[in-house]
Amino acid sequence: MSSNSNKNTQLVSSGRKKAYTHGVVNPVVQRASTVVFDSVAELKEAAKKRGDKTLFYGRRGTTTHFALQEAITELEGGEGCALYPCGAAAISQALLSFLKTGDHILMVDNAYEPTRDFCDKILAGLGITTTYYPPTIGAGIKEYFKPNTKVLFLESPGSITMEIQDVPAMVNVAKEHNVMTMLDNTYGNGLHYRPLEHGVDISIQAATKYIVGHSDVMMGVAVANKKYWPTLREHSYLLGQCTSADDAYLALRGLRTMSVRLNQHEKAAIEVAKWLEQHELVDHIRHPAFETCPGHAFFKRDFDGSNGLFSIVMKTGNQKAIDAFLDSLQHFKMGFSWGGFESLVTANLTMKGLRSTTGWDLGPVIRLHIGLEDIDDLTADLAQALEVYKQHL
Ligand SMILES: *Cc1c(COP(=O)(O)O)cnc(C)c1O
Repeated sequence: MSSNSNKNTQLVSSGRKKAYTHGVVNPVVQRASTVVFDSVAELKEAAKKRGDKTLFYGRRGTTTHFALQEAITELEGGEGCALYPCGAAAISQALLSFLKTGDHILMVDNAYEPTRDFCDKILAGLGITTTYYPPTIGAGIKEYFKPNTKVLFLESPGSITMEIQDVPAMVNVAKEHNVMTMLDNTYGNGLHYRPLEHGVDISIQAATKYIVGHSDVMMGVAVANKKYWPTLREHSYLLGQCTSADDAYLALRGLRTMSVRLNQHEKAAIEVAKWLEQHELVDHIRHPAFETCPGHAFFKRDFDGSNGLFSIVMKTGNQKAIDAFLDSLQHFKMGFSWGGFESLVTANLTMKGLRSTTGWDLGPVIRLHIGLEDIDDLTADLAQALEVYKQHL
């Protein structure tokens, strides 16, 4: 376990300089395109810093953005944080900042689906090739490096099937090959996992999920170490990545309560998962804190906690049973996100199209996000919906 002391205090106090708050508790929402200067000297000074916590031009951010960037940089422990209009933009921009035609990247096979699509549709068109490696490969990743490999991309736990990666082992191999590493840390959120402490170069999050926490803002963040921050920052600027001050404000407000929300999500999800584990229709639970989750030992070694997201692998099923199950749920709404205060569900009969080098010969996968509702209501809802599932088998 890495040190997580004083993280609650940090979440409350970070990014609250008087220059940002003007003496109230929260930063002022500073909406701006144009920044105006009173003198040539002031303009020259601003141009030199170019928005590094100094006003320069709207696209470089305002004090509201600086407050959020500072807080996220402290949370993840890096040199700087770039903001993006969504998590997908943070991922694509981080990759584009460091790749050129002829390069090769290693992408984990259980990556978030739009990440895969970006590699297959956009990077491929630019002449950048992708090899998908099995999420449980660990130090075996060394067999996958090519002379033109530039980036090793990780996501841990991976989307839907939740395998946890042996990050330090893989980072070591990448360093031996002089290859940079990026990790989609949306699950680990910076409180439970800080990739840069494990040698990763860039940690990316869909802040849309737990940082915002209320399902009302799209936002992406990428925190880089000293070596890669200048390029990430400049390339993100050149490709026009920016967010509104209002969205930055809401993301920062969400961040203040992230720790207490996560505690409740974690507790409730473990309780619901334990209940589900006993159910006759359930084969096993894919929750990082459960021994049945591949890579659980790495979770125990590297993470400080879990959250509301997990999957269940069913013993058997068909599309009719899944559809009837989904339609019968009352508290779990169908939706492709997670990290908000509400419970959500998605289901996949197979992993077809979502995996290319890792097979899937197990049953249907139902992914749940456990929200902040009463736990009894959630288990009762799942109990009646599983009864409906059974009737359709
Ligand atoms: C949701 C998600 C993203 C994308 O974030 P958006 O803000 O929806 O673009 C990226 N990675 C993971 C793991 C996600 O769950």
